[in-house]
Amino acid sequence: MSSFFNNPRALLFGIDDIMKSESTTGSKISINNNSISSPNSKEIQLQELRESFKNCNKCGLASTRKNIVFGDGNPEARLMFIGEGPGAEEDNQGLPFVGRSGQLLTKMIEAMGISRKDVFIANIVKCRPPENRDPLMEEAQACIGYLRSQIQIINPEVIVCLGSVSLNFLLQPEGKVKLGISKLRGTWQDFYGYKVLPTFHPAYLLRNPSKKADAWKDLQKVMVELGLEINK
Ligand code: SF4
Repeated sequence: MSSFFNNPRALLFGIDDIMKSESTTGSKISINNNSISSPNSKEIQLQELRESFKNCNKCGLASTRKNIVFGDGNPEARLMFIGEGPGAEEDNQGLPFVGRSGQLLTKMIEAMGISRKDVFIANIVKCRPPENRDPLMEEAQACIGYLRSQIQIINPEVIVCLGSVSLNFLLQPEGKVKLGISKLRGTWQDFYGYKVLPTFHPAYLLRNPSKKADAWKDLQKVMVELGLEINK
């Protein structure tokens, strides 16, 4: 257990969570992506997590949602994308990034030479904010623990934050300083030992197509980090 406590990722969770995790899975969690003994254990842990908040009403978004949008993708993903919250189509289907922004995100992922099935996509809040407004601080703070659990279970090599809201609520949920996406995009950030790369949200890219070139540069940095081939 000591190696885990020496890792900054352990700070994501309290000791009780870690003890519980070890006692229920019978396996030791480490920084290594392949260190959990059962090949399906990440999938099972994600299913258990999903079940644990299927009736969540910890914040006001519970009263207007149609579906909780847990997230979707490969439990063994090396790469996670994190957006801010579900939109109307996502709320209808219970899946993340399935509207116009999602279609662009799929193209961005495929341009990297991988598919949506290879990555895991989640949001800061799991229920749709009305009228697609940004999540409120109290909503993000109520929900962020679920995302942290997803990150801990999947243990990705790289996390891409899509847009300013995702970046700010992930890196500093207390909201002490406003982190600007234009300034920080394409620069490596640290989240408890996880490598985080912010880039523009696909919805912003749909409104500002000239920024797609910048987003592609950012994704190429991720490709280099993951050892993916870049076809220029
Ligand atoms: S947004 Fe998150 S915390 Fe709020 S009700 Fe939905 S699942 Fe619960």
